[in-house]
Amino acid sequence: MSGPHKLLYVKSFGCQMNVYDSRRMADTLAPQGYVETAAIDDADLVILNTCHIREKAAEKVYSELGRVRRMKETAAAQGRRLFVAVAGCVAQAEGEEIIRRQPAVDLVFGPQSYHRLPELLRRAERDGKAVDTEFPVDDKFDQLAAPSPAATRARGVSAFVTVQEGCDKFCAFCVVPYTRGAETSRPVQKILAEIQHLAAAGVREITLIGQNVNAYHGEGPDGRPWSLARLLQSAAAVEGIDRLRYTTSHPHDMDDDLIAAHRELRTLMPQLHLPVQSGSDRVLAAMKRRHSCADYLDIVRRLRAARPDLALTSDFIVGFPGESEGDFAATLALVDAVGFSGAFSFKYSPRPGTPGAEMDGQIDEETKSERLQRLQAAIDRSQAAFNRRCLGRSFDVLFERPGRHPGQLVGRSPYLQPVQVTAPAALIGEIAAVTISEIASNSLFGALALPTAEMPAPQPALNAAGA
Ligand code: SF4
Repeated sequence: MSGPHKLLYVKSFGCQMNVYDSRRMADTLAPQGYVETAAIDDADLVILNTCHIREKAAEKVYSELGRVRRMKETAAAQGRRLFVAVAGCVAQAEGEEIIRRQPAVDLVFGPQSYHRLPELLRRAERDGKAVDTEFPVDDKFDQLAAPSPAATRARGVSAFVTVQEGCDKFCAFCVVPYTRGAETSRPVQKILAEIQHLAAAGVREITLIGQNVNAYHGEGPDGRPWSLARLLQSAAAVEGIDRLRYTTSHPHDMDDDLIAAHRELRTLMPQLHLPVQSGSDRVLAAMKRRHSCADYLDIVRRLRAARPDLALTSDFIVGFPGESEGDFAATLALVDAVGFSGAFSFKYSPRPGTPGAEMDGQIDEETKSERLQRLQAAIDRSQAAFNRRCLGRSFDVLFERPGRHPGQLVGRSPYLQPVQVTAPAALIGEIAAVTISEIASNSLFGALALPTAEMPAPQPALNAAGA
């Protein structure tokens, strides 16, 4: 024990789902006397919330655990017991192997076991070790503690709400269906209750998250499955919520209602992350993506017809087995055709147990690196062009926190770009119109403008490139 409370340090790897899960773990442990600390050296419990998506994910966790083991030895020399837990997708995939390879670990638990954390900790304390990587049938969200209003406020004006977990798509490169299990959706009423709770604590922006969020089909109050579009409509009606987003979507599940929601719901922000992975139909088929390049471009066209200023971001994998120079050229052409406002791109890395790992035609590292560089240059050009079109425009910014320099605040544009503005601290948590005066590679700079209602209406088109 360090003082009257026990101190908890959670390190999140990977996606927003993990950041959200880490917060819920902290909420679940709060009634047990755990308080979050930003200093790992002071912690009584260290949780590594792992991600399996990126290259050599498991190896990175083991190397991090080596450091934590040395901290555990230092704590023991000072007469303290440091508990070490591994959570998330690597925990789910590796299970007991983690404790075998790194005996300093006390507890291993998968994404479906977070609500059992207090009990698992007691078990680890009693038995020395505990492992829980089952896929139980109960709804873990029912049993996860809700954060206190103070904890919610401290986390800021923008919050994630998990609406869906797992995936049934089985893309040939991806471990999610194996580590997070089948697609499950939370019931509508529970999600709305969570959003109301967040709104009451001062949250103004909600991002609905799920590994395949637009496959959402949770039970509605009428006992029937509701689509994501219908859920968004109800979320938009929650008082105090001014901005909605959702991520991550699969093109295959981008239905007409969801596209129409981008036209109809002003609360739904004009930004969408829609992974495409490749611009080549041959590669998309090998990846088992269930959409062609033309399908993707058609979705983009319909989305922009619904919301002309929509900013699109995406994910790309280069060097999937069998990818030829011609296939890769098709990916570059897709980047130019869509005009993304940003994108993540990665070299393909085989994940044990996925079909891609067994495929012929694995691409050598040098080729992958060289293609990645070219793709990133194309994405950077596209992002810079999008940002340039923001110059001189005015739009609403939701201010989130102080900036790096005194007197400066950082907020987000509707298109999710960070915007730095000289503004009074009282504007944190508020939305104000900002005119963009300068752009840097990853953020925009601007000045407070007239209130939105007084802004002149016509603005230049943001999406010069049409799909
Ligand atoms: S849809 Fe996404 S989460 Fe599901 S298998 Fe494909 S890449 Fe993985």
